[in-house]
Amino acid sequence: MAKELSLYVHIPFCVRKCLYCDFLSFYADKSLQAQYFEALAKEIRLSAKGLKDRRVISIFFGGGTPSFPKSKDVCGLLNTITDSFNVDPGAEISIEVNPASAMKDKLADFKRAGFNRLSIGAQSLDDRELKILGRAHDSAMFYHTFESARQVGFGNINVDIMSALPGQSLDSYLDTVQRVIELKPEHISAYSLILEEGTPFYEMELDLPDEELDRRMYHETGRMLTGAGYHRYEISNYSRDGYECRHNKVYWRRGDYLGLGLGAASLLDETRWSNTRDMKVYMDCLWKDVPDEDFPGSEGIDRNTDQSRILPGLCDIRQDIEELDIKSRMEEFMFLGLRLTQGVSRQLFSLNFGRNMEEVYGDVIRKYTGLGLLEWVSCPEDTDEESSSAKDLQDTAHDGEYLRLTERGLDVSNTVMADFLLD
Ligand code: SF4
Repeated sequence: MAKELSLYVHIPFCVRKCLYCDFLSFYADKSLQAQYFEALAKEIRLSAKGLKDRRVISIFFGGGTPSFPKSKDVCGLLNTITDSFNVDPGAEISIEVNPASAMKDKLADFKRAGFNRLSIGAQSLDDRELKILGRAHDSAMFYHTFESARQVGFGNINVDIMSALPGQSLDSYLDTVQRVIELKPEHISAYSLILEEGTPFYEMELDLPDEELDRRMYHETGRMLTGAGYHRYEISNYSRDGYECRHNKVYWRRGDYLGLGLGAASLLDETRWSNTRDMKVYMDCLWKDVPDEDFPGSEGIDRNTDQSRILPGLCDIRQDIEELDIKSRMEEFMFLGLRLTQGVSRQLFSLNFGRNMEEVYGDVIRKYTGLGLLEWVSCPEDTDEESSSAKDLQDTAHDGEYLRLTERGLDVSNTVMADFLLD
């Protein structure tokens, strides 16, 4: 069976910048957008040359706002991917959309092109809160997008919502949660607002909910969504059975993924890197006039070189390349895996690293199990019906035990997970 791979495609364009946003996103005119799509298509074709032996099980178009550019350009990129890579017929193919730009005809184009999962950035259904966030849409646009998505045939929809917003009361937040539940999306992501340095919000005097209210919002989210038939499978993610996001689980389980486009991050065969965040560097490297066959390294991959998966011609855009040592891999295994409510498998840890989990992390595990923040459980239920290589590997470990955060542990997850960093 071919080794699995996931693809992330970054579309950095937005109609305008939200006040809390620190994603790599900006406004660009049609001409820059067109050049970017051409360069990105070239990066896709060239990257695929060295990965013909991989089976692509998920693709995620994120941003930015992938629904902002012309749908023809975005769908063209998906075609380039399916022409260049070995995409599994059952692959999960997601696209993020913003209600301000996700018109019904665009959604229909996305569906026809092969996208089978939609992620709608609602954030709130309170127009006053949306205005404070600097979002380009209002709640009526969100409803319209959701209904249009169903009408054009999307049967797998995620809705993003945010809590701990400036001026947000518990009631107004829970009203958003309730109204989203009534729409019956297959998946809901519920994150707390985080003030990021460099954003306008970071500099502003904001009336933010205190820690206690933030925690209440988190707990009420869990209570309401669980009561409505969703299960939490990750700290901030809930789904109906069979609709866990396969792509995001690849990140948390450290499966292989390739990031394509400006600033996109990759993990492949235990090497991490990020594409440049500089548009000029990105465009200069993928210059338009050079045919693919003349591109440096286009004859394929020399698997004997240090950077065996890096095409020489793409080295200029691929930065911060780091071959992970066993220590970093163990740390990532723990703090990414603990995000999942399933937890981390003791047996899989041994299989991966040739060492017992307690031998490496005995003290920290004893400390937090003693405090009731971590617990050992047997064969936690995994409701995701679809498989991935990482999951298959997890499943082979079902007779082992899993270490996971308790309900109380979820409240202080950052503190607990930070303790899994090795000296
Ligand atoms: S739509 Fe998303 S990516 Fe774009 S500016 Fe707003 S938060 Fe950032």
